[in-house]
Amino acid sequence: MKFKVDKNACIGCGACQAICEEIFEIKDDGYAVAKDVEAKDKQIKEDAINAMESCPTQAISEKKEG
Ligand code: SF4
Repeated sequence: MKFKVDKNACIGCGACQAICEEIFEIKDDGYAVAKDVEAKDKQIKEDAINAMESCPTQAISEKKEG
């Protein structure tokens, strides 16, 4: 499972990084990005989903591939 962040929706609150820094990172421009890594580890996946659901602007979604 991978994730993506809609930069137009992100307000840079930092919640996603605080919940799951393995996947989400606030960049120098103040907005979050999702690292292009597969959230395989069960705990990381749960944390990342939690972060996605906690985003105040629903900027995070699952990145579907293929
Ligand atoms: S939780 Fe949502 S709004 Fe906040 S930094 Fe992450 S993607 Fe942006």
